[in-house]
Amino acid sequence: MAMDCYAPPPDHTCDIWQAGDSIVPANAIPLGDSRPYFYIKIVATFTTYSESEDGDTDVVESEERVKTFLVPLDRLVGSDASWPAISDMLSAVNVPIGVQYNMMHEIDEYLGSVAGDRGNAVAKVVPMIVSISVEDYVEDNSDDDDGGDDYVVLRESMNEPVVAQVPASKAAVAGLETVSASVEGGDLANKECAICQEEIVVGSTDQMVKRLPCAHVFHGSCVIRWFGMSCFCPLCRFPLPTL
Ligand SMILES: [Zn+2]
Ligand SMILES: [Zn+2]
Repeated sequence: MAMDCYAPPPDHTCDIWQAGDSIVPANAIPLGDSRPYFYIKIVATFTTYSESEDGDTDVVESEERVKTFLVPLDRLVGSDASWPAISDMLSAVNVPIGVQYNMMHEIDEYLGSVAGDRGNAVAKVVPMIVSISVEDYVEDNSDDDDGGDDYVVLRESMNEPVVAQVPASKAAVAGLETVSASVEGGDLANKECAICQEEIVVGSTDQMVKRLPCAHVFHGSCVIRWFGMSCFCPLCRFPLPTL
């Protein structure tokens, strides 16, 4: 069943940039509210291609989902709640959880640098655009007897509503094994932290390395942020206990 098998995440890209003030509607900020805000417009394009045996690709389905969000700046910058807040926005346009972790770090870092920009220090609203593309391929097995079923299953997985995330319990995260320098680097299940995409160096003095029960390893600080938002291993969806 779907719960037992994990398909690799679809191809995806994520770009973020500061936009002009013209994308912000005049009445966006409630009257009397003087806090600084991000006005974030997410444009997500989901395309499903079919690939036939002779290498032809056809667009089976393409859908664009656009949503805008007005979020107090301090919720997204310098806050432990920034990742859950970003994940909520991505989930609102149905970006699959399996590709969110690749976008989280980049969006979080970029928002931080934009907020720290002197030119934005006095702005009441900072307009941002996040452009996301998710591409999935289905095999065109129309000649096979059972090919039709695969096709339908894959299409449904792109359209499934993304359910709200449940964080792992603090005790479960605190109890994760720390990988020490005495363990050979070659024994690590993965050598790059999937959360921040940086190399994992065992024995480094500034980054603790944590191993999950599924054997996947991540930086200690990345693990704390990710599991404060989701209870699933970003690589294989192994679940940690929740509260
Ligand atoms: Zn990391
Ligand atoms: Zn895992």
